[in-house]
Amino acid sequence: MNREKSQALFDEAKQYFPGGVNSPVRAFKSVSGPPLFIKRGEGCRIYDEDDNELIDFCCSWGPLILGHNNAPIRELVTETVAKGTSFGTPTKLGNELGKLILDNNRFIEKMRFVSSGTEAVMSAIRLARGATGRNKVIKFEGCYHGHVDALLVKAGSGLATFGESTSAGIPDSFAKETLVLPLNEPDLLEQTLQKHGDDIACIIIEPIPANNGLLLQDKSFLECLRLKCYKYGILLIFDEVISGFRVGFEGAAGYYDIQPDIITYGKIIGGGMPVGAYGASHEIMANIAPEGPVYQAGTLSANPVAMAAGYAAMQQLLAPDFYSNMAEKTDYFTNKIQAYADERGYTLTMPHIGSIFWVAFTKNRITRADEIEAASMEQFKVLHHELLESGVYLGPSGYEVGFVSAAHTRADLDLAAERICGALDVVFG
Ligand SMILES: *Cc1c(COP(=O)(O)O)cnc(C)c1O
Repeated sequence: MNREKSQALFDEAKQYFPGGVNSPVRAFKSVSGPPLFIKRGEGCRIYDEDDNELIDFCCSWGPLILGHNNAPIRELVTETVAKGTSFGTPTKLGNELGKLILDNNRFIEKMRFVSSGTEAVMSAIRLARGATGRNKVIKFEGCYHGHVDALLVKAGSGLATFGESTSAGIPDSFAKETLVLPLNEPDLLEQTLQKHGDDIACIIIEPIPANNGLLLQDKSFLECLRLKCYKYGILLIFDEVISGFRVGFEGAAGYYDIQPDIITYGKIIGGGMPVGAYGASHEIMANIAPEGPVYQAGTLSANPVAMAAGYAAMQQLLAPDFYSNMAEKTDYFTNKIQAYADERGYTLTMPHIGSIFWVAFTKNRITRADEIEAASMEQFKVLHHELLESGVYLGPSGYEVGFVSAAHTRADLDLAAERICGALDVVFG
């Protein structure tokens, strides 16, 4: 594969941006070669500056559930942008998107639009603290919630200790407000709450953890979280920035039929534009300014262009059978690769849910971050390289999940599966 132009652009970009990128994982640090500079996307395919064509399973890290250059989104955005991009005032389009979402989601009654997933999570944490008058937060190892200070934290040594920051620039005093627990361990959760329950404002979880492999949880663990939060007066936050509108229009809350107290959204909700949102009951949302004392604002929040993209996307997601078709296609695709790997005795599984999948170089079911073998990332590196050569694009890290979009046809998936099987022969060869 020729990456000459991407290489030259990357060399140039290093003069402008730290590491040559505007978001770290784009730098291809854990796979080989320079990152691809993409110039165009159409359906499930992307095209780089060297004119390589690839079947895309990264889909901009999740937002593009309808594929690239989706016609209804493009048309409504084009029509909207022609009237101006932002006014810093309320707009009718904002109402329309808010209504469309709230009318079709049983788990939130009121919402606020922001401009990214990180911003949604940051605001949700502040809301939980404001509403409960408590400071501490519980999160789980292996869940990512954006680059919020309080959540760039890992477990200290020992079980259920107060956190240590995973980034420079976060004061210890902030990290100490966060407790970090392993996923899927109800007993440890109960012990922690017996000790600290009355100081905890919220427990935040990716109900479908998809930022550190795909760590599908036991439903009973999520139910246990719900009950414990009621018991201790803690607000339960589902961070649905990935799972929202992905495993169903009502996200993981709908999938598992569990009512969290606050839900955060991002990625798909903006139809490819920078949009995030958080929502809750009328009562909890009444804490937000100007109704209540919890301050949260945004210059470009709910700008009409972003609302147009979100609206055109959401309308399509509400089509009957949209989500069952997506799940069926993803089953079909992953089963095909799994069958090939099984026949040859390759140590591989493809956990999947809805249209999210993960390539795991193990036969074990993995529910906790510490169960992932770091050595398996070497195998991923080979897979990634081989797939670029044959025209399949996965996110550039073995900890990233893949996404099937509505634009991937059965024929596209057959072709991609064939290429992936070929690449596996090299990985295990
Ligand atoms: C992507 C993601 C975020 C952060 O969203 P940004 O738009 O990148 O700020 C937060 N939480 C989860 C679960 C995510 O997947």
